[in-house]
Amino acid sequence: MNSIGSENKPLEVAIIGSGPSGYYAAQSLFGSEKKINITMFDRLPTPYGLVRGGVAPDHQKIKNVIRVYEKISISPGFQFIGNVLVGKDISIDDLRNNFHATIFACGAETDRKLGIPGEDLQGSHTATAFVGWYNGHPDYRDLSFDLDQEIAVVVGQGNVAADVSRILSKTADELKQTDIADHALQQLAESKIKEIHVIGRRGPVQAKFTPEELKEFGELEDCNPVVDSSTLQLNEASQKELESPEGRTNVKNFEVFKDFANRDLTKKNRSCFFRFLEGPIELMGTERLEGILLAKNSLSGDPFKQRAEKTGETVEQKCGILFRSIGYNGIPIEGVPFDEKEGIFPNDKGRLLDNGSVVNGVYVTGWIKRGPSGIIGTNKPDSVETVNCLLEDIEKIDGEKSGNSGIMKILSEKQTRAVNYDGWKKIDEAEVKRGEPKGKPREKFTRIEEMLDIIK
Ligand code: NAP
Repeated sequence: MNSIGSENKPLEVAIIGSGPSGYYAAQSLFGSEKKINITMFDRLPTPYGLVRGGVAPDHQKIKNVIRVYEKISISPGFQFIGNVLVGKDISIDDLRNNFHATIFACGAETDRKLGIPGEDLQGSHTATAFVGWYNGHPDYRDLSFDLDQEIAVVVGQGNVAADVSRILSKTADELKQTDIADHALQQLAESKIKEIHVIGRRGPVQAKFTPEELKEFGELEDCNPVVDSSTLQLNEASQKELESPEGRTNVKNFEVFKDFANRDLTKKNRSCFFRFLEGPIELMGTERLEGILLAKNSLSGDPFKQRAEKTGETVEQKCGILFRSIGYNGIPIEGVPFDEKEGIFPNDKGRLLDNGSVVNGVYVTGWIKRGPSGIIGTNKPDSVETVNCLLEDIEKIDGEKSGNSGIMKILSEKQTRAVNYDGWKKIDEAEVKRGEPKGKPREKFTRIEEMLDIIK
C-alpha cells in the first residue's frame, strides 16, 4: 500500500486564503519530500491578499514579494481557485471530504473597536475601510470619505496608521504613479485636509511604527511632520526601554521624533502632528463628527509592559474626519472554532483546537493563527511551523481524497464562477495595460463583475 504523500497517492491540501501566510505555507509544503497537491482558495478573483489590498500603493517595492508567489503558483500540483468563499460557496465538510488537510490562512479582516461613545458617528471610519478604498478592494470601492474637512485624526501609532496618515499627507503628484485606485486618486487630489493628528495612547518610545515608515514623513513634498519637544520627556521605564537591546527599533523611532521636533518648519500646506499619551474617550458631534475628547495619560509599569493610565486631565481636538487604526481581528467561519477574545482560530503551534482538543487535519497560519502582528516576512517562519505540524501528523492521515477535482465538481454543480490562475493572469495583464498610459504599474479593476468580464 502506498503511503499518503507518495508519487501515486499525493497529499491533498487546501489552503484558505492567498495572502503571504497562505503562500509561505504552500512554499513550505512544496519544500518537503512528499508529493503534495495544493488547492488555494480566495474569496476574491485576485490572489495575494494584503499584498494587493493592504500594502500601501506608494510602497511598490514591498509588492515585489509577489514574484515569489507567482513562482509558487505555477509549480506542478498547485491550483488557485478565486471568487470562492469558504463557508458559503463551499462548506467545511466539502473541504474535509475532498482534502486530507486544510490550512486556514484567512487573515484578520475586521477592525478592533475603540468601544467609546460616538465611534460610529458619520465621519468616523476604520483604517481598513480607507486602506481598502484607496487600494481598490471591491468591498470598499463605493465608500466615500469627506476630504473637504480640514482636520483629520488618526487613532493609533502602528504601521497601518502610518500608511493612512501618509496617504492623507501626500500630494496627488506623489501618488499618481503608484497603483492607487483611480477613484481614490481623484478624490485625494481635491483633498482640503491641512492637519493630520496621529494620536498614541502611550509615549513616543512605545509607538509601533517601524523607523523606515516613520522617516518617510520627513521626506514629504508638501507636509511638515510636527512633534512638540515637550512630549519627548521620558519616564525612567521608557529610558530603560531605550537602553535595552530589545529597544533598538524604539531608539530609532525616538531619534526620528527628535529630528522632527528640532526641524524648522518650512512653508508647506499640510502638517502631520505626532501626539503621545492621549487616549480617546469620546467622539463628539451630533449629526456628524466634530471632534475627539482625549484623556491625558501617563505611563505605569515595568519597561516594555507600561500601560497608559488617565491623569484626570482631558483635551479636545476638533476634527471632521477620523480613522481608527488600532489593530485587526479575525472573523469566524461557520463550522470552525473561534476565539472571540483574541479574534483568532484557537490553535497549538498551528494545529486547530476545539475546546482544547486538536481537530485532526485542520491547521491555521498567519494573522488568524497568531493575531495581527508582524511584517510580511514574519509569516514565513509562522507557516513553516504550521506545515511542520501537518507533516508530523501525516502518518495519522488516511483515505482517498479527490482534492481539486472534487471541489471543482461541487462548484460547477452550484454554478459558482470560480477563477483559476490563468483567469487571474488575464485580469493581471489587463490591469497592467490599463496602467501604462498613466505611468502606473497597474490600474486595478475594483469591481468583481469587471474582473469576471475580462475572463469571459
Ligand atoms: P499595531 O502595530 O498593533 O498598532 C496598533 C496601534 O493602535 C498601537 O499604537 C496601539 O497602542 C494602538 N491601540 C490599540 N488599541 C487602542 C485603543 N483602545 N486606544 C488607542 N490606541 C489603541 O497594528 P497595525 O498598525 O494595525 O498593524 C498591524 C501589523 O501590520 C503590524 O505588525 C504592522 O507592523 C504591520 N504592517 C506593516 C506595514 C509595513 O511593514 N510597511 C504596513 C502596515 C502594517 P498600544 O501600543 O498602546 O497598544
